[in-house]
Amino acid sequence: PFEKSKGQHILRNPALVDSIVAKAGLKPTDTVLEIGPGTGNLTKRLLEAGVKAVVAVELDPRMVLELNRRFQGHPLSSRLKVIQGDVLKCDLPYFDICVANIPYQISSPLTFKLLSHRPIFRCAVIMFQREFAMRLVAQPGDSLYCRLSVNVQLLSRVSHLLKVGRNNFRPPPKVDSSVVRIEPRKPLPPVSFREWDGLVRICFNRKNKTLGSLFKQKRVLELLEKNYKTMQSLQLTQDAEMGKEMSADDVALLANMVEDLNMDTGDEKEDDEMEMEMDDTDISGDGATSFKEKIMGILQQGDFAEKRGSKLSQVDFLYLLSLFNKAGVHFS
Ligand code: SAM
Repeated sequence: PFEKSKGQHILRNPALVDSIVAKAGLKPTDTVLEIGPGTGNLTKRLLEAGVKAVVAVELDPRMVLELNRRFQGHPLSSRLKVIQGDVLKCDLPYFDICVANIPYQISSPLTFKLLSHRPIFRCAVIMFQREFAMRLVAQPGDSLYCRLSVNVQLLSRVSHLLKVGRNNFRPPPKVDSSVVRIEPRKPLPPVSFREWDGLVRICFNRKNKTLGSLFKQKRVLELLEKNYKTMQSLQLTQDAEMGKEMSADDVALLANMVEDLNMDTGDEKEDDEMEMEMDDTDISGDGATSFKEKIMGILQQGDFAEKRGSKLSQVDFLYLLSLFNKAGVHFS
């Protein structure tokens, strides 16, 4: 009996398993991380592909037993190591490449856990729920383009490899799936992830609102002004954060921030809820008003005031962040 709560949907189409393995571009020297091996259909093909080792992390002790039984006495079993545990909680072993048909409920935290693991892997080929996959690869202007797309694409190149219908699994899940390739960027872009995420959160708070109106919100201005004053009083150099590569700690931080990136909840509210929450009231006092003008000036400088988060590329966000930082405005 397969457990729904553990996302146990077993791949039953051998041709599909073969094409996933073929797309991974495995080398004989590779250590492969497999997540959620289940009964081992993918595991078997990975071992047969002639890699150095397969390390498989499986939560369900019954599946671990089943796997060990299946590979007992198998000529390739010395290359297999099964770890019983929750992949989100355990320390990941060294791996060159990750190939997995994962339980969909862990998609977002798992993706960021992989991307913050060091040393960084070469590539991951992962089965995701179709909509999650489309969010990962979405480009500016696509309807599914969201914080998840922007953040994952900051750290990696993502590409869609295969569409997989639900009937390739037993039992069939309620949704279709897609296999996606994730290749971490080397080196990472020279930004502080805290800063990056702070900016992106504001721009995607209502992804179809103009940045001009998003940055006029009282709570945004108050936050930015508070940061501004702190930086000034500490006399930090204005662009201290720029120009150095993101650290592993910085990326790890990101791994802890993704709870609210889950697709079920969505990461932006409906537009009609929006007007209620928008607060265009000017902050009283000359100093505050001029801070607002400062922010508007920065947006105008890069021609961003009329643009919307839903249309901005990685390069746009990086440029906008650099304009803010140059003016001493910080998001964390
Ligand atoms: N790889 C197998 C296949 O393709 O036939 C099974 C894939 S099934 C979609 C997901 C597997 O992940 C199940 O075996 C489930 O027990 C396991 N799993 C669920 N949550 C997990 C977790 N947090 N860490 C590790 N494995 C988990």
